[in-house]
Amino acid sequence: PKGIFGTTTAVFAVVETQARKTLHGHAAIWGSIPPKFLQSIASNEAIVQKVSSVLDSFYTARLPPDIHVQGLLNKIHKVQPPRASRMKPVTPSAIGFDAFMASCSVKVDGIGGQMHKHTFTCRKGKNGRLSCRLARPSGLNPRTGPKQIEFTACEGDTDALSTWKVLDSIVPEDQTLRQLRNRSTHPLPESDARCIVWEMKREEIDVDTVIEGLEPRVKEEIDALSDRNKELLMKTLAVRNGAVVEFNPALTECLGCNTAAYLLGSEEQARAALFYLVKYMTKDSVALGNSLPVIRQAMKHVNAYESNAADAGSDSRTSKFFMQRIVNGFTGLAEISDTQCAASLLGMRSMVSTDTHWFA
Ligand SMILES: [Zn+2]
Repeated sequence: PKGIFGTTTAVFAVVETQARKTLHGHAAIWGSIPPKFLQSIASNEAIVQKVSSVLDSFYTARLPPDIHVQGLLNKIHKVQPPRASRMKPVTPSAIGFDAFMASCSVKVDGIGGQMHKHTFTCRKGKNGRLSCRLARPSGLNPRTGPKQIEFTACEGDTDALSTWKVLDSIVPEDQTLRQLRNRSTHPLPESDARCIVWEMKREEIDVDTVIEGLEPRVKEEIDALSDRNKELLMKTLAVRNGAVVEFNPALTECLGCNTAAYLLGSEEQARAALFYLVKYMTKDSVALGNSLPVIRQAMKHVNAYESNAADAGSDSRTSKFFMQRIVNGFTGLAEISDTQCAASLLGMRSMVSTDTHWFA
């Protein structure tokens, strides 16, 4: 059946606790328009246009300019917008599509985290060393579509930022390698060497035109601002779509909290996402390095103390005793937050998967 992300075939989701102890989930959804297809059509303008309009119905990365203006005014005046989670969800069938999008945009602007603000976690890991690891603010884009990135690694150049550029247009795939392939010795085709990234529409805002078209009440409010705040508003407004974290309007309406609905795009993007996901798919496994001290500790315990069971001292009991100590050692090492524990007691699963995964 068709859903908010089109026709999907598989889902993998995990529930985690964040630093402030609230539960949140990560989900990967397969199906809809596959990465291989998005990669192969990138140089065909007519198909790109059709596909982009479908993707625009799944993901939104921009807000209407008047919502941005109100959001900035709220920020300047330190006004807390109404909490989306306490607002009633609305549906396009009840109030019409335009009113639905307007309602959803107000919520998005008011939801903490839906407009990206840098925090200390932005600089975590190796991706955080160069810039915000979530790549915010995002580059502005007049329409949803593919971009081709070319890497031009210079010898001795340690500044990774200067070694790539975005091409003006997409170069069609070089098919020669595929055509020359001996299918009996190379059953898997060579992968496409082009690095293509699909980006969502995020327009730059034409500040003067937008301010001209605002309601008189809002215009007066802007006029009353100090010069410094007015300059800040103009400067931020132009590029504020770069801070919008991609969302799906129906999902935002249903959940009323911050979400990040990312299109995984081309083959390269899908691969990167899978490397990221594997950590989550295997997160509960005990790292090999942790196993040895646990086993040694169990061995020491079994050697020093006798089991309380009736058959204590027999080979069978000693083995069971030893194995039980190891299992207890491992589960004792996993940290479970109180919220995770409560969710588990209420019967909420920490992982949902439509399929079984193997790791090789
Ligand atoms: Zn950031």
